Amino acid sequence: MATASDIADIRHAVAALCARFPGEYWRTLDRERGYPTEFVRALTEGGFLACLIPEEYGGSGLGIVAAAAILEEVQKNGCNGAACHAQMYIMGTLLRHGSPAQKAQWLPKIASGEIRLQAFGVTEPGAGTDTTAIRTVAERRGDRYIVNGQKVWTSRVEHSDLMLLLARTTPRGAAAKRTEGISVFLVDLRQARGRGVTIRPIRTMMNHATTEVFFDNLDVPAENLIGEEGRGFRYILDGMNAERILIAAECVGDARWFIAKATDYAKGRVVFGRPIGQNQGIQFPIARAYAASEAAALMVERAAALYEKGEACGKEANMAKLLAADASWQAADMCIQTHGGFGFAEEYDVERKFRETRLYQVAPISTNLILAYLAEHVLGLPRSY
Ligand SMILES: Cc1cc2nc3c(=O)[nH]c(=O)nc-3n(C[C@H](O)[C@H](O)[C@H](O)COP(=O)(O)OP(=O)(O)OC[C@H]3O[C@@H](n4cnc5c(N)ncnc54)[C@H](O)[C@@H]3O)c2cc1C
Repeated sequence: MATASDIADIRHAVAALCARFPGEYWRTLDRERGYPTEFVRALTEGGFLACLIPEEYGGSGLGIVAAAAILEEVQKNGCNGAACHAQMYIMGTLLRHGSPAQKAQWLPKIASGEIRLQAFGVTEPGAGTDTTAIRTVAERRGDRYIVNGQKVWTSRVEHSDLMLLLARTTPRGAAAKRTEGISVFLVDLRQARGRGVTIRPIRTMMNHATTEVFFDNLDVPAENLIGEEGRGFRYILDGMNAERILIAAECVGDARWFIAKATDYAKGRVVFGRPIGQNQGIQFPIARAYAASEAAALMVERAAALYEKGEACGKEANMAKLLAADASWQAADMCIQTHGGFGFAEEYDVERKFRETRLYQVAPISTNLILAYLAEHVLGLPRSY
């Protein structure tokens, strides 16, 4: 577990790394919808993406407080962790539920960067938020599973060696509960591409390397099943708190970037003979965004501290994601407004970060579903869906 001084050192090191990838680097990639390979390589070589992998498997085992600090710092320095953040949290499914042989086979290579585990195939066109309605099937045939179906929004799959795939091994109607009969597999994309896996990129409003993935009689060795057949939905839920906390930390980083950018601009831009930041109409939205982001940061810290102690943190992790995504979006909107017309100019990076941070209202979990979680599981209101 990381000490306060470790965290300060980590923040410093990540900020120094990010300084090598300035706005121009991201703008060029954004224009071309290119993947930030050099940036991801630098984070991997620095050991940052292996922060949650235990030392016995070659990671630093520093824990989620350190992981959150890394991702927050990436965003705060104008970079974009969406290109690689998933490796941090989806690895947890393998760590918690994989067999000793699977962990020994994959985790050291993921930690060293030899193997990339960046893709998480959950969402389907016909299922959306209702994960139990997925229709991709994995049918057992001897020592293999044969996978057929389709995923959508599978991000980074073109830049990953492994994909964590969720598929039905028992049809929803035949399972005792709708949450049962779903299994998790590690798909080795190096072998699967062109042999049962077809990938089609989806162009989105921001640079996100997301795709549609089609499975046509994909052959997956049974030894790549994670944990027990049929219990995959539970395994994925086990990883949700870490995912929520890490995305929330990114949102706090984004909010802090927008606030710093707006504050600087408001001090320097002179209109009507005075800096625009002297007007309360400009100051107050910045101050309001600041207060919202600091409150969200406290919730992220609280959720991460509970998680690190192994205590229940579903409520805090969900609230952290909700508050932080709202704070980053509020700060993004404020930052555009503070910049006036220049907020829309590519070279200021504001419009790019604005587009990027908008995603977190929808993915990996939408704000509505977090509110539904709080209403049902924390406040005891009737389930609404
Ligand atoms: C850029 C991008 C990258 C992504 N990357 C990945 C990835 O790597 N892997 C992956 O598996 N998925 C990924 N996703 C998918 C993402 O997790 C889903 O888009 C998200 O969970 C919402 O699902 P949906 O888009 O199907 O929306 P839907 O489920 O169709 O919902 C549409 C809207 O209705 C609302 N809604 C639905 N049901 C309810 C309800 N009961 N109460 C209130 N509101 C409701 C939702 O909140 C949402 O606003 C990505 C998405 C995007 C856009």
